[in-house]
Amino acid sequence: MPPITLPEKPRLILKEGREQSLLRRHPWIFSGAVQRVIGAPGMGETVDVYSANGKFLAQVAYSPVSQIRARVWTFDAQAVDARFLLQRLERALEQRAALGLLEQAAVRLVYAESDGLPGLIVDRYGEVLVVQFLSAGAEFWRETLLELLSAHIPCRGIYERSDAEVRTLEGLPLRSGLVWGEAPPFVEIEEHGLRFRVDLAHGHKTGFYLDQRANRALLRSLSAGREVLDCFSYSGGFTLNALAGGARSVVAVDASAEALAQLRAHVNLNGLPLERVETIEGDAFQVLRRFRDQNRRFDLILLDPPKFAPTAAQVEKAARGYKDINLLAFKLLRPGGLLLTFSCSGGVDAALFQKIVAAAALDAGVDARIVRFLSQDADHPIALHFPESAYLKGLVCRVSGPL
Ligand code: SAH
Repeated sequence: MPPITLPEKPRLILKEGREQSLLRRHPWIFSGAVQRVIGAPGMGETVDVYSANGKFLAQVAYSPVSQIRARVWTFDAQAVDARFLLQRLERALEQRAALGLLEQAAVRLVYAESDGLPGLIVDRYGEVLVVQFLSAGAEFWRETLLELLSAHIPCRGIYERSDAEVRTLEGLPLRSGLVWGEAPPFVEIEEHGLRFRVDLAHGHKTGFYLDQRANRALLRSLSAGREVLDCFSYSGGFTLNALAGGARSVVAVDASAEALAQLRAHVNLNGLPLERVETIEGDAFQVLRRFRDQNRRFDLILLDPPKFAPTAAQVEKAARGYKDINLLAFKLLRPGGLLLTFSCSGGVDAALFQKIVAAAALDAGVDARIVRFLSQDADHPIALHFPESAYLKGLVCRVSGPL
């Protein structure tokens, strides 16, 4: 009888010297680091990674199409299965519980690589979970993950929003809809005592920008008596906090008419004074220029634009965009005015962002200083071995006057 040979788990062999980032526990393997693949792993399948000289390094999810060819599940040999995934989910929940974050109605429960679950996002809005499977590996375990989530996290329904463009880089189709239980089209959440209606099917990302929660509270504390300009306002997260903090007026600018309609509805829902709010549908770059030409002035300006540079390739163009809006904002601020300026571009790091803002102040001819550095909220933790997870950068600058 011929000996029975079990099929071997597929292997990925790295090029010589390309194991360094894995040894530092960075969870990504780029296609250029791969020497060869042994076996024929399918999309998202778990494979073992070895260095060129035969040392076991990690178990990864294989992604045949993406530049990020593999994402690490674990650096040891434990089985990657439902039990493993449940442990990672529990760890993510524990971390949030320990920080008192689970008392929030709206909270990110799982933040992908930062929680050891590459490509998986789980946000909780009231009794509904909104999930995104953004990598081949997360997609591979989709059914298992949905079962684990529904069994272990009390909720009424799970809504999938795997309609983020990054899925196409992984060769995955966009998908969204209710996947378990039931969910109303809108879920009302409360944040710092303010009520918002999150549109599960059509809201941006998973419906709300949870990462800005702490920064919205900060804004509230800075708004009393000020004339505020909220650029890229979306559904009013910052605008409502400005009003709640006693702003004299708020001008909210967004390219999306629906976002502004929601913003006005949110103002009413909270019994805040709509007469103090002006909404402008349009391109913030153009509106800022128009305000400059009209010599309009503000005491506090928020700039929270969408990603200008999702990847390193678009950095130069993004830098010009950030410089433009920050320069214009500096020109529109009265002496003593505050600028809260953000970048959520992965390709622009904190140091570069600060340089861009400094150049903008110089060209605007204003003397300004940074009074605070801001980041994403604690339910979007930054894995120390994965600096890419630190994507949201913010500065609070105070303008003293002309240079
Ligand atoms: N500050 C918000 C989130 C902003 S998200 C919050 O805390 O909830 C970015 C917003 O910018 C989106 O609402 C999008 O519609 C808008 N946007 C994108 N490009 C724009 C442009 N060129 N001008 C104005 N708004 C734009």
